[in-house]
Amino acid sequence: MSNSRRSSVPQWANWSGGVTCTPQRIATPASEAELIDLVRQAARIGATLRVAGSGHSFTPLCATDGVLVSLDGLQGLVAADPAAHQATVWAGAKLYALGDLLWEHGLAQVNMGDIDRQALAGAISTGTHGTGRTLGSLSTQVVGLRLVTAAGDVLDCSPAHEPAIFKAAQVSLGSLGVISQVTLRLLPAYYLHERTWVTSFDECLAQLAEQIENNRHFEFFWVPEHDERLPLVKGYTDQEPPQGRLARYVREERIDRSYRIFPSERALKFNEIEFALPADAGSTCLCEVRQLMHTRYPDVVWPIEYRTLAADDLWLSPAYGRETVTISVHQAAELPYQPFFADVEAIFRNHHGRPHWGKIHSLTARELAELYPTWDQFQGVRRQVDPGGALLNDHLRVLFGR
Ligand SMILES: Cc1cc2nc3c(=O)[nH]c(=O)nc-3n(C[C@H](O)[C@H](O)[C@H](O)COP(=O)(O)OP(=O)(O)OC[C@H]3O[C@@H](n4cnc5c(N)ncnc54)[C@H](O)[C@@H]3O)c2cc1C
Repeated sequence: MSNSRRSSVPQWANWSGGVTCTPQRIATPASEAELIDLVRQAARIGATLRVAGSGHSFTPLCATDGVLVSLDGLQGLVAADPAAHQATVWAGAKLYALGDLLWEHGLAQVNMGDIDRQALAGAISTGTHGTGRTLGSLSTQVVGLRLVTAAGDVLDCSPAHEPAIFKAAQVSLGSLGVISQVTLRLLPAYYLHERTWVTSFDECLAQLAEQIENNRHFEFFWVPEHDERLPLVKGYTDQEPPQGRLARYVREERIDRSYRIFPSERALKFNEIEFALPADAGSTCLCEVRQLMHTRYPDVVWPIEYRTLAADDLWLSPAYGRETVTISVHQAAELPYQPFFADVEAIFRNHHGRPHWGKIHSLTARELAELYPTWDQFQGVRRQVDPGGALLNDHLRVLFGR
């Protein structure tokens, strides 16, 4: 095989510790050329291959007993084009490192999620998102990418070149090949003004539409422990703080570079289920989950997170074709979550929710195909690019039905 660095103990675990595997080997190519060599040699001996980012998915997307590729050796910027508001980035780049690098070129990501620990390709491969009614997931920020297919072919994809493969690859769960470079659509560097305040559950719901409409980013956490009296509401804005009643409740306020405002620390380990729902079902669905927790799971203390996401046209994006609300439910990593998440999932599914690919769910190919109008297009591209299924693992075989 190539001279890629090998780890001495080939064991791998995800962030929450809920997924572990023993790959035949873990390879960390130090360059794109090494990556291509590694993939070609794996293809020659018929080895299966998975690629991992930062291992922050709760589902066994990366699990393999074949070759596990880490792109931790492919970090940083390939090139920045401030005039075009674009930059090409090595796919293994961690989001936390990207902020400073882009800022030096007067650029910043359009939106980010709750944390910045993910690798760029890992984040886009599951449709990772933040919040904002007019803002799409990180996958929608991608305007081009380079894919090393299971056969070791190198494909540069964009809306102009290999457009079908590009659209499929924007959210592809590592099933089309190893993404080695990503070109991002960016904004001129900008600051954000964050306010966090406390309000009652009922007041929060009454103001929901207005807050979502009036703020670039709006989300809130409902904290079950405090029931109706103390849900936590969190808003980001680059507008003036609101006047009047709400201002009296402001608990915390800060202004900083955008990439420093978006992420938060996640010191405690947890497991998570999140579904993307049609936006107009969001508040009803939340009330049903809250009712479930009050009646059947009163011991769960972890908050529920409520966010918004613009519709997009990416084939496997949970926000495909519809304005979206995402609702996330958590449980401590050391506690059982199965019956609780199964009941929550039933509520989500009743509202035609689509699961976050990186978070726990039980859906299989038949059910997923019903939720995605472009399911067959995606599967067609996947079979074309990886006809032998070298990039599949047990989890993906259940998701894709082969
Ligand atoms: C504490 C925490 C907070 C989170 N917050 C959010 C949030 O705010 N919003 C949200 O949407 N999600 C969130 N997530 C979920 C997380 O963003 C996704 O699961 C994301 O995919 C993880 O990125 P990763 O780099 O760890 O990728 P991994 O979990 O390692 O991999 C994810 C997928 O990407 C593929 N992949 C990785 N690298 C490549 C590559 N180079 N080429 C091709 N495929 C590749 C893998 O094969 C796999 O299918 C959170 C997760 C945790 C643990």
